[in-house]
Amino acid sequence: MEYIVGGVFMARCIVPEAEAILDKEFKVLDKGFIRLVDYMGSDARIVQAARVSYGAGTKTVREDKGLINYLLRNEHTSPFEQVVFTFHVKLPIFVARQWIRHRTARLNEISGRYSIMNDDFYVPSVDDIAFQSSDNKQGRSKNVVPDDLKKKILDILTEGQDKSYADYTEMVESGIARELARINLPLSTYTEWYWQIDLKNLFHFLKLRMDSHAQKEIRDYGFVMFDMVKKVCPLACEAFENHILGGCRLSEAERKAVANLLKGKELDLSGRALEIFSAKVLD
Ligand SMILES: Cc1cc2nc3c(=O)[nH]c(=O)nc-3n(C[C@H](O)[C@H](O)[C@H](O)COP(=O)(O)OP(=O)(O)OC[C@H]3O[C@@H](n4cnc5c(N)ncnc54)[C@H](O)[C@@H]3O)c2cc1C
Repeated sequence: MEYIVGGVFMARCIVPEAEAILDKEFKVLDKGFIRLVDYMGSDARIVQAARVSYGAGTKTVREDKGLINYLLRNEHTSPFEQVVFTFHVKLPIFVARQWIRHRTARLNEISGRYSIMNDDFYVPSVDDIAFQSSDNKQGRSKNVVPDDLKKKILDILTEGQDKSYADYTEMVESGIARELARINLPLSTYTEWYWQIDLKNLFHFLKLRMDSHAQKEIRDYGFVMFDMVKKVCPLACEAFENHILGGCRLSEAERKAVANLLKGKELDLSGRALEIFSAKVLD
């Protein structure tokens, strides 16, 4: 929303669709959630920032959309840093360990030295129990796991969690320091944090973590978060889907192969190089 106060151009962005989801918990996995605590800026802020050099704010939706598309397509990303989100996230520690690798964010996490950890552990749904993939060392196989084995796996997971929490409780009740009592709690333990990031870096996070190569559990957070971000800046998200999420980077050899095709020549890629190229383009 833009308005003039005492001759000064004001631009506090309030987006009704975003206001409607503020503070609401969006469920992820069995016990996790994402909550939008606050946001600063929107599509309007991106175009205001980009047009600051000549003092104009937003124009028509069509012109704003065109500008946002242009900015993202040409990697003129600094206007996207003007949009900032604060999320409250509840997530298992093994997801948090992947998430925290994204350094361009600010966060504050619950302290297991100060607080008593809750009896909250992630247990995968029965459909998510899978064998190790044989061709992707960081992935799951599509081969069906027999029902009796799935049940056994779930029993192993829950029994281990129950035992470690009983041990934790016993240590805490014996007066042992919380910072020590917690050290055998499993990676499936849920933690919580406030996470603040700007839109440019959030797009980078979402590109990597919604990708099929990322672990299923962090992808689930990525998908829910992306739906929330769309409420704040739908035009930027549309441009992100077109230019970043749905696009792909070509090597020089791949670019030349595409040029060959366009000129009606042979593709000129074979073997593993052709496999990688096909996976990029046909995925
Ligand atoms: C599918 C997948 C598998 C992975 N597997 C592993 C693994 O097996 N082991 C492992 O250790 N990690 C792994 N990672 C983590 C990965 O290597 C990155 O650390 C993580 O994705 C964060 O990416 P980033 O550094 O680009 O993001 P951010 O830290 O958010 O940084 C964003 C961008 O800012 C710039 N930047 C930030 N900090 C610096 C800096 N200090 N110096 C220079 N530039 C900086 C870079 O351009 C960077 O791309 C994996 C990630 C994915 C998505």
